[in-house]
Amino acid sequence: MGNETSIKQFGKSLRGEIVLPNDTGYDDARKVYNGMIDKKPAIIAKCFDVADVITAVNFGRENNMLISIRGGGHNAGGLGICDDGLVIDLSQIRYTHVDPKTKTVRVGGGCQWGDVDHAGHAFGLAVPSGIISTTGVGGLALGGGLGYLSRKYGLTIDSILEVDMVLADGSFVTASAKENEDLFWAIRGGGGNFGIVTSFLFQGHPVKTSFGGPTLWHIDKTEQVLKWYRDFMTNSQEDLYGFFATLTVPGPPFPEELHGKKMCGVVWNYLGPHEKADEFLKPARDLKPDFDHVGPIPHPTLNSMFDVFYPTGLQWYWRADFIKEIPDEAVAQHVKYGKALPTPHSTMHLYPINGKASKVGKNDTPWAYRDANWAQVMVGVDPNPANKEMITKWTKDYYDAIHPYSAGGAYINMMMDEGEDRVKASYKDNYDRLVKIKNKYDPKNLFRVNQT
Ligand SMILES: Cc1cc2nc3c(=O)[nH]c(=O)nc-3n(C[C@H](O)[C@H](O)[C@H](O)COP(=O)(O)OP(=O)(O)OC[C@H]3O[C@@H](n4cnc5c(N)ncnc54)[C@H](O)[C@@H]3O)c2cc1C
Repeated sequence: MGNETSIKQFGKSLRGEIVLPNDTGYDDARKVYNGMIDKKPAIIAKCFDVADVITAVNFGRENNMLISIRGGGHNAGGLGICDDGLVIDLSQIRYTHVDPKTKTVRVGGGCQWGDVDHAGHAFGLAVPSGIISTTGVGGLALGGGLGYLSRKYGLTIDSILEVDMVLADGSFVTASAKENEDLFWAIRGGGGNFGIVTSFLFQGHPVKTSFGGPTLWHIDKTEQVLKWYRDFMTNSQEDLYGFFATLTVPGPPFPEELHGKKMCGVVWNYLGPHEKADEFLKPARDLKPDFDHVGPIPHPTLNSMFDVFYPTGLQWYWRADFIKEIPDEAVAQHVKYGKALPTPHSTMHLYPINGKASKVGKNDTPWAYRDANWAQVMVGVDPNPANKEMITKWTKDYYDAIHPYSAGGAYINMMMDEGEDRVKASYKDNYDRLVKIKNKYDPKNLFRVNQT
């Protein structure tokens, strides 16, 4: 990893800074979103610009160091950080630029999604992303990206127009439909395997104020609501999006009588004309929700609605699957494990990925499950490390019970520690092409702290 002098020299050559194990800020700098992850890198390089990233890649490669790339630090398995290696931390490369003429947004490689929502909103534009605004753009956008806009505008990868990247040999390239097309194909779902993205160019979409929010029912109604939801969501127009969840109601701003209650629900986002929203939501309201908080909401507010309930540092254990259908037997398992949610933060979500997301060819990007209707995830979550085993057991048991009804693979950004075979299964026949491109751009597997 280089001697003391070369490490010092490396630090001096950056506009940003390096953080070493004996430095005061080290423990803060190595923390990631999932409190279960406790990795101790040898060097954390907080890069300020592209030049810093090039210097860091060259230093890591020349000194045979394990390298991890840190965007927003949200990855479930802590793939933004590593033990004993070099963390290339992009969190200071955090800028946005909206071009209202082309309706595009240029985004620094270390941005969080809240930055993009904020910048685009002033221009009535949004980019498909996830449901928590503190998630990093880098990891989410390179792995797929699903959220409130998926049914109308597709996955995040479907809105990437161009990326600037630093490759394993330290060179700087642009990848788009016209330049380095193979690389452009690979980064739209293949994760951070191919290089470090220092900037993204996204297509923005006309989104300003949606009609959204949750309808919730007591957990006893899960069977009835989920059986209705599975058919409703697969047949509704692309203007309407709703993800299904089982959850425990937190405190304020929810009404006091619901605090601590286990419930099921759907969180909606209707993107059509507001005067038509009631018509679209009527079938849900006919099921008499016990809580109904759906109305006009600015897009950045919807996209950050749950941030407050999920601060950095909770313990998280994740399992995921792609789902084509939800048969009655699967509904029965959701009822069973929904009633047994082990802690107030634990939850299960079914994110719709039909609609526009399913209209892209299955080989047009590495994302092979264009024919799945949902990405399902169950997460055991709790602030207390003493409950780690308990939340992990609930998640694994739930997953084992429901996995037989899945489509096979899973969304790689919602996997944790399921291993190489499962990653391979998730790319299906796109896997071999990804391997070829990896061998061309990173033959020595420098960027291997990944779902690789
Ligand atoms: C609370 C929570 C909610 C979530 N909700 C959603 C959701 O609604 N929709 C969804 O699609 N996903 C969601 N996710 C999953 C999310 O997509 C992944 O956790 C993703 O890896 C986070 O990206 P990050 O940059 O924050 O991660 P990091 O931990 O920083 O990085 C993860 C991996 O991404 C790669 N990477 C990151 N930035 C770059 C870059 N600039 N260049 C090259 N590689 C890079 C690295 O290889 C690294 O291994 C959620 C995660 C959490 C924790």
